[in-house]
Amino acid sequence: MRIAFYSTKPYDRKSFEQKLKRYGDKLVFFEAKLDMHTVSLAKNFDVICCFVNDLLDANILSSLKNNGIKLIALRCAGYNNVDIKAALKLKLPVVRVPNYTPYAVAEHVVALILSLDRKIHRAHIRVRESDFSLQGLLGFDLHGKTVGIVGTGRIGAVFANIMQGFGCNILGYDSYQSPSCKALENFKYVSFEQLLGQSDIISLHCPLTKETYHLIDQKVISKMKKGVMLINTSRGGLIDTQAVIDGLKDGQIGYLGLDVYEEEENLFFENLSNQIIQDDLFARLQTFPNVLITSHQAFFTQEALNQIAETTLNNIKEFKEGKIVNAVTNNHIAT
Ligand code: NAD
Repeated sequence: MRIAFYSTKPYDRKSFEQKLKRYGDKLVFFEAKLDMHTVSLAKNFDVICCFVNDLLDANILSSLKNNGIKLIALRCAGYNNVDIKAALKLKLPVVRVPNYTPYAVAEHVVALILSLDRKIHRAHIRVRESDFSLQGLLGFDLHGKTVGIVGTGRIGAVFANIMQGFGCNILGYDSYQSPSCKALENFKYVSFEQLLGQSDIISLHCPLTKETYHLIDQKVISKMKKGVMLINTSRGGLIDTQAVIDGLKDGQIGYLGLDVYEEEENLFFENLSNQIIQDDLFARLQTFPNVLITSHQAFFTQEALNQIAETTLNNIKEFKEGKIVNAVTNNHIAT
C-alpha cells in the first residue's frame, strides 16, 4: 500500500521506518498538516496517516475520497478532528490506535501535578540564576488530599492507581464504572457536583465530544474548591480558556496544568520561538506563575511511539486483507 503521512516529525519517521521490513508498505512522509491546501498531496496514495491536529472535515474527506484514498489511519487514540458521520457516508473507513500505553499520559499527569505543587518549573530557573531563595515555592503534601478524576477509562484508571500510591483519596466521575478503580481501597464513584466540591486536584480524562465541549466553564469552576489544581491532558476543547483565566485571576483556580489547548493546532509541535504569538488567550495563560503548559507531549514515550507505529501498520495490513480493525464507528459519534 502507498501511505502518505501528514504532520510528520523525525521521531514519527524513525518509529515507522523501524517497523517497515515486516510490513513492506511504501511510506511517504510529509511535514505539512492536512488541511484544504495540502489535501492534494494525497493523490496517488491508498492510505493517509494522520495525527491529532490534522483536519478531516467533510470537505477534506470528500477530496480525499476523490483522490482515491481508501483508508484513513489515525496514529492516535482521539478522533475529535474527524467528521466521522461524513466519513461513514463516504464509505471511507477510519481506524485509530485505541490501546497504546496509558502509562505515558497518566505518568505525565503526575509530572504536572508534582511540578505545580512543588514549583519545580520555577525552582529550576531560580537555581540556574543562582537565586537559592525559597520564598514563593511553598508546596503541599499530596498524601491525604482528594483527587477527582473525570473519566475513568484506560488512562483515568491508571492515574487513579498511581495516586492511591501517594495516599490520596480518589473520587471518580464516569457513567462507566471501571472494575480496576472500584477495586482500589481509597476510590469512590461520586456525582460530578460532588467531585467538583470535594477535590483538591481535578484531572480530566474523558474524550472531547459535543457533550463534553467546554465541560469546564465558569459555572463549573465556581463549584470547585477555592484554590483547586486543574489538570487537562485530554483535549483542549474540554476547557473554556477564558473562564479558566478568570478563575486564575480571582484565585478560584490555584494551579493549572495543561498538555492540550483548544487552539493548539496553530501552536503545538512547531518551533515558533522566532515568531510573535498571536493567540492572546494563550499568551495570557503563560503569564501566570501557577500555570504549567506542555505542548501535547503526554503520549510521547518510546513505548507509546513503538506501539503507535505497530498498531497503525497492523491496522493497514488488516485492511489490505479485507478486515477493518480498530475502526471508528457509529458508536463513537457523539449525539
Ligand atoms: P477511554 O475511552 O479509555 O476513557 C474515556 C472515559 O471517559 C470512558 O470511561 C468514558 O465513559 C468517559 N467519559 C465519556 N464522557 C464522559 C463525561 N462527560 N464525563 C465523565 N466521563 C466521561 O480513553 P483513554 O484512553 O483513557 O483516553 C482519555 C483521553 O485522553 C482521550 O479521549 C484522549 O483525548 C486523551 N489522550 C491524550 C493524550 C496526550 O498525549 N495528551 C494521549 C492519549 C489520549
